[in-house]
Amino acid sequence: MISLNNKALLEMPITDFIISSDKVAHVQSGNSAEHGLLVLTKTGYSSIPVLDVKYRLQGLLSAKMITEAILGLERIEYDKLANLKVEEVMEREVVYLKVTDSFQRALDLVINHAFLCVVDEAGTFVGIMTRRIILKQLKKYIYTQIHS
Ligand code: AMP
Repeated sequence: MISLNNKALLEMPITDFIISSDKVAHVQSGNSAEHGLLVLTKTGYSSIPVLDVKYRLQGLLSAKMITEAILGLERIEYDKLANLKVEEVMEREVVYLKVTDSFQRALDLVINHAFLCVVDEAGTFVGIMTRRIILKQLKKYIYTQIHS
């Protein structure tokens, strides 16, 4: 059995692993759903953060949320896209991390989320932490323990 210094790993701050906001594709809540779909399609991301004009986290947007909102009985009503706002279709119940949170909280939450938004004390969006980053960090840590 591998003996890990679990405490050190779990209590590690998350700050070093955040993808900073300037590198994160996002939309604003007042944008049209059409713009949202464009950003999602062009970036290829399944879901992106929704922010307000002051860069505060408002929710998450995915292509599924948009298509569900314009789904008619027999066809997808694309003509509705331009008049539909991101805030009308986004998911508002978002699980997020605070910059002061530990690696343990991030680890617990990424089991059910491919990425997590990170906010500062004022609620301003600072970036995201992805499941990929957390797994990479975990792998590095385990390999270091095995070879030490
Ligand atoms: P990845 O771990 O790179 O596969 O990313 C997992 C998910 O995190 C993506 O599908 C997106 O929803 C989100 N994500 C990752 N990187 C970015 C980014 N730079 N901008 C916006 N969303 C991102």
